[in-house]
Amino acid sequence: DVAALGYRLQDLDGASYRSYKGLTGVWTGEDGYDLEIRTVQADPFAPPSRLRVTVPARTAGLPPGLYHGAVRARALGGFLARALRRAVEHSTLRVDAGGQEVLDRSAVRIRPDGTVVAELSVPLPGRGRRIDGGAAAAALTVVLPRAVLGALRWETADTAAAEQFVETVEDAGALRDALAGRGLVGFVADGAVLPRASGVDARPLAGGVPFVSPPELRVTLDVPHRGTVTGMGVPEGVTLIVGGGYHGKSTLLRALESGVYDHVPGDGRELVVARADTVSVRAEDERSVQRVDVSAFVTGLPSGNPTDDFSTESASGSTSQAAATVEALEAGAGVLLIDEDTAATNAMIRDDRMRALIPAEPLVPFVERVRPLHRGHGVSTVLVMGGSGEYLDRADTVVLLQDYAASEVTGRAREIAGRADEAGDSAFPAFARREFDPRSVDASVRGRRRVTARGRGRLTFGADDIDLSAIAQLADPGQTTGVGYALAALDLRGVTLAHALDRLEEAVRREGPDAITRGAPVDVAVPRRHEVAAALNRLRPARVTHLH
Ligand code: ADP
Ligand code: MG
Repeated sequence: DVAALGYRLQDLDGASYRSYKGLTGVWTGEDGYDLEIRTVQADPFAPPSRLRVTVPARTAGLPPGLYHGAVRARALGGFLARALRRAVEHSTLRVDAGGQEVLDRSAVRIRPDGTVVAELSVPLPGRGRRIDGGAAAAALTVVLPRAVLGALRWETADTAAAEQFVETVEDAGALRDALAGRGLVGFVADGAVLPRASGVDARPLAGGVPFVSPPELRVTLDVPHRGTVTGMGVPEGVTLIVGGGYHGKSTLLRALESGVYDHVPGDGRELVVARADTVSVRAEDERSVQRVDVSAFVTGLPSGNPTDDFSTESASGSTSQAAATVEALEAGAGVLLIDEDTAATNAMIRDDRMRALIPAEPLVPFVERVRPLHRGHGVSTVLVMGGSGEYLDRADTVVLLQDYAASEVTGRAREIAGRADEAGDSAFPAFARREFDPRSVDASVRGRRRVTARGRGRLTFGADDIDLSAIAQLADPGQTTGVGYALAALDLRGVTLAHALDRLEEAVRREGPDAITRGAPVDVAVPRRHEVAAALNRLRPARVTHLH
């Protein structure tokens, strides 16, 4: 049992660091929880050792009403993970509990029968290459049991906070589920606080001006716990966010971007949601592109590259944005978000002067495609554009931000821009679905199987590095790790990418994070299909074999 583990560790004090290996296995603690030492690092400088704690349902004593169903299990698991992280924060033990978003993650899982399974990591203490038995015993037999019994049992948990956490997550999910039925793609509740503390701190900005919905766009929705909620509904179609520089346009778009996830109580965006298939698209020059049909946006390149089967090792700003847009649609995006700050201007607009000066322009600006995309494919767009009026006549809804306050100015925009001029907008063409060579993806991870996130935006995928810094909707490094494992688990044999993503989603629905880690001792948060596709699209050795 855990007491015996303590004696063993004391005995091992001063022994060779490798003797830690002998401790691998299951140890039973007080109150009958199990501590499994899953992996032991080879030396003090290697990645930390992995622990799993399994607390039986009768010990945990969680109320079934708070964990039954996938949403509540994720929410209560997210609460317990954060409580466990707090309980070990002054020790060397680590719990990957995540940030402001409440994702389905491996850190704490609640099984349908109420068993709680927690995953931790610990750098096992050493003095040089010798075991520090006293420090190890303190971490594993004093700090850990106290944290587990304190944080993972209902008896000692902050039960009011746990209930509020689950209710907050459930309300956000209900709001998101209500969007489609109301013809909305997003919702921003009155009173929401959208700005973040800083570019590197995702907590709410202290003193942030709370959101107030413009009366013309105000909708009322019912959620199970908070009851009636009012706020701005972002309608389907084309929505344009305008306003002066620094008046809060990007902040609003980012809140919608993050609205595909649920947020922790106190975040400020608890009741800001976007449809689950909302994908943020941007320019990303120098990325690689593998056989994407960009003919909707590019009609003839000076290089002679075919645009319905376009590949490059180094895209330009505009072609990268075209590729990202088509890739998003291929993976199933129903809503696109675009910010002028990160878009390529020539991919977005072309004014009359440039049309006159440059007759042989291969690019079809997005402004000519945005309406056909909605009409023909049912895909809505929300875009921020403060510097050009080109979209005013294409927008169904125009929101003005001034001093962080939103107002609806669609009518005024129409007066200025005239009637929608769609005559030149041709239908958005159908595009090819790609089938990848599975071996070209496996090759990266075969042999050197290491999949490691380096922060949120960089993924080591076996022998290759994938740059995900432009993928705005990756929530945290644990989710980036999840993307890597999902990509390794993706079964691409004989099916289109979209089909492979369907199957992956189905497996995750059944098995949770295990569907992507397959038992590997690693911390992950489950990624969306869109971010998995984004990683594959940026894996340079990946090869497309067929276009359907
Ligand atoms: P824009 O895209 O219109 O140029 P941003 O969205 O980047 O503007 O916002 C500019 C600054 O204002 C940012 O520092 C942001 O954090 C802050 N900000 C945005 N919305 C609010 C708000 N509601 N209350 C307080 N500060 C805000
Ligand atoms: Mg901006």
